[in-house]
Amino acid sequence: MSKLEANLIAILQRINELSQSNSSQVRLIAISKTKPVEDIVELYRAGQRHFGENYVDELEKKSNDNIILTECPEIRWHFVGHLQSNKINRVLTRVPNLDCIQTIDSLELADRLNNNLMKQSKTLNVLLQINTSNEDQKSGIDRKDFLSLYEHIKSNCTQLICQGLMTIGSIDNVKIDDDSDFQALVQCRKDLCEKYALPLNEIELSMGMSNDYERAIQAGSTIVRVGSLLFGARG
Ligand SMILES: *Cc1c(COP(=O)(O)O)cnc(C)c1O
Repeated sequence: MSKLEANLIAILQRINELSQSNSSQVRLIAISKTKPVEDIVELYRAGQRHFGENYVDELEKKSNDNIILTECPEIRWHFVGHLQSNKINRVLTRVPNLDCIQTIDSLELADRLNNNLMKQSKTLNVLLQINTSNEDQKSGIDRKDFLSLYEHIKSNCTQLICQGLMTIGSIDNVKIDDDSDFQALVQCRKDLCEKYALPLNEIELSMGMSNDYERAIQAGSTIVRVGSLLFGARG
């Protein structure tokens, strides 16, 4: 068995153990940024289907690579980086098998995506990225504003399917073993579900990376985004 396959199996097993205790289905997104397409193919062959990238250029290049197109027909791509408006058309028209943009953090971005999708008569899964750590430099919408963003999308953005919420969280919290960012996202989901009378299990929570995915699942994560633990450290 290859190293990458062994990493995948170990992580999936840990996810499985932890998700049984919190009784939710947890999906693994393999964050392949900076890693070669050969690594993606290797994990695909081992059964992994969902992959994520944080730069549009890199996502466009990899998703159109011949080896990906021929060897990975069922791959699903997630965009997890900050999306600049001048890259919207490219991400929406030049990425085969785009599954979800996890980083919607403004009304303008939602409207621009929606208008573009409308012209193509397409819909797209999205998550709302929330800045749970209130750090100025982090992208994500403020907690106090996310409900109005959700309301705006629900009433105006017919092409966007809002599947849930996403946060990156503070690096400091990883170091000090503090899960306040995860708890903040859990609270956001609770507020959202109360306001719109939605079952909690219909709203996904994308939180947890290599260093804290176990803690995130214990807090209630349904989507973990794991890069270095799966592929090895980035150069
Ligand atoms: C890079 C990245 C990850 C994965 O980080 P690792 O620490 O390598 O697991 C997850 N989410 C986002 C948004 C990222 O940019």
